[in-house]
Amino acid sequence: MSTLDKAYKEIEGIIGSKYITEKDFMKAAYSRNVDPAFPDRWADMIVRPVSSEEVSAIVQVANKFKIPMVPRGGGADLVGGSVTQGGILLDLTRMNNVLQINEENFYCEVEAGITWGTLISILHEKGLTTGVLGPGSGFSATIGGGLSNSTAGFGSTKYGVIPDICLGVEAVLPNPQGTIIRTGAAINKYAEPFCRYGVAPDFTGLFMGDVGIMGIKTKAFLKLFPVTPFKAQRYYILNKNDYNIVSELLHRLRTEVRDGLHDVLVVPLVTMQLLSSMVENKPAKRPRMKGPVFSILVEAMDERILDVFLEQVDDIMKENARKFELQEVDLDATHSRDWKFDLKYAYNYFNKYISVAPPKISCTTCHKVPISAISKVAEKSAQFDLKYRSEFPVGSISLFATVIFLLPNGNCVIVGGFNADNIEEQREVSMKMWHKKIRLQVRYGGVHYWLGEAISQSIVEADAYTPDFIEFFKNMKKTVDPNFLLSPNKFHMYNYEDEMSSHIVKED
Ligand SMILES: Cc1cc2nc3c(=O)[nH]c(=O)nc-3n(C[C@H](O)[C@H](O)[C@H](O)COP(=O)(O)OP(=O)(O)OC[C@H]3O[C@@H](n4cnc5c(N)ncnc54)[C@H](O)[C@@H]3O)c2cc1C
Repeated sequence: MSTLDKAYKEIEGIIGSKYITEKDFMKAAYSRNVDPAFPDRWADMIVRPVSSEEVSAIVQVANKFKIPMVPRGGGADLVGGSVTQGGILLDLTRMNNVLQINEENFYCEVEAGITWGTLISILHEKGLTTGVLGPGSGFSATIGGGLSNSTAGFGSTKYGVIPDICLGVEAVLPNPQGTIIRTGAAINKYAEPFCRYGVAPDFTGLFMGDVGIMGIKTKAFLKLFPVTPFKAQRYYILNKNDYNIVSELLHRLRTEVRDGLHDVLVVPLVTMQLLSSMVENKPAKRPRMKGPVFSILVEAMDERILDVFLEQVDDIMKENARKFELQEVDLDATHSRDWKFDLKYAYNYFNKYISVAPPKISCTTCHKVPISAISKVAEKSAQFDLKYRSEFPVGSISLFATVIFLLPNGNCVIVGGFNADNIEEQREVSMKMWHKKIRLQVRYGGVHYWLGEAISQSIVEADAYTPDFIEFFKNMKKTVDPNFLLSPNKFHMYNYEDEMSSHIVKED
């Protein structure tokens, strides 16, 4: 019997034959994320545990036979994070229960494999929300994936990224014992998981944005907020295509409207042009568009306060923009005065900007920059695209940003990338350009969030980490994963002996 067969049998004994498979059609179904440049990658077995104890027992088997593991939630990753070539793919979506909704003290406890769509729907009926509602892929993406990818999504302008609403986790360490630990207030065995800091160092952070390399999150404790009853949506179009003005306006909105801002999106002129060319129900007259469109969503607990926020927004925008309606480009769009929030909106509105030229998929390069840097990075990005135009995959469109999304304080997400096809002939060229473009962003000081494989490796290639940090990073990983089994390949870490610096790429 091979090692894999022995491991399979032992895991089958733990979780039952229904929840483990090595059948080809299942491996094929789990062989991809939503990313065009990676080839299909087949795990040796797909395993679907239902509890932390089962995850722990599987980890013990993996350690016994030295088999690598990769955790997977909804598999909606865009950067090769939740697939594995060989080894165990741990599908966590059977761990999908809400364990506690503490309405009195505004927190909840959930299993990490529950989707955002399910959790938010349950909370919404109780007049509660997690503030940031998860990624655009939230109908299938999970809480565990959101925490691991430091996800930004609907509500992020006000509530931050997903780790910002996390009060702690339960995680299974990939060590030979499959140790189950809790973080946040839950470290104190007498305490409820109602806050994050104060019992020990903040070990929650060890698992936030870790793309599943430090542990397998099985439970999460999240902040809750009362649903804000009054929300309104307004659009403005700038008179000029000038990102310095965009930065100034974002700064003023942040300074003057502050907590009233729920979401602020800036849709570049080129994205508006692409979108308007694709809509089904076009107006007879071509829209006059000279600059980016601001989409501003404000919220308040009182309707009178909402009106004040709307007045402030109007005042800030009036000098450089005119009011705009999406109906100017799409007759089927809702007029802002009729706009009403519904849960579907939270998971649909962002998707159209991820890849503005369907049916192609994007090699996404979404990253964060300070708001004052938007103009500079737009220029650097344009120069890069021009210089390397001939090296992009055939038929690809590369955009500096398909949308810019304001985050708390003074930073924003630049959602962007270039289109590629999921075909063998273009894989190598797409992957090469993908890494190269990310390296450029890292070197101009951009900070990414979903790191998966493509981005985490490119950060190492860009020589972002100091040798001291690399040593610290490896030592931390070694502490939780002495046999180096969890999520190999990410960050160009293949074992503890290799020099990560050997992957640094010097640009011409
Ligand atoms: C149409 C579309 C829209 C999107 N919109 C957004 C967006 O608005 N914002 C955004 O940030 N992202 C977005 N994404 C990317 C992605 O969907 C999100 O980052 C999402 O949070 C991933 O969740 P998931 O459950 O699908 O994770 P997966 O794809 O399953 O996993 C993501 C990473 O987390 C690890 N992981 C998953 N679960 C666990 C766990 N329990 N323990 C430890 N590690 C784990 C995996 O190993 C992997 O590295 C979008 C993707 C698509 C296709």
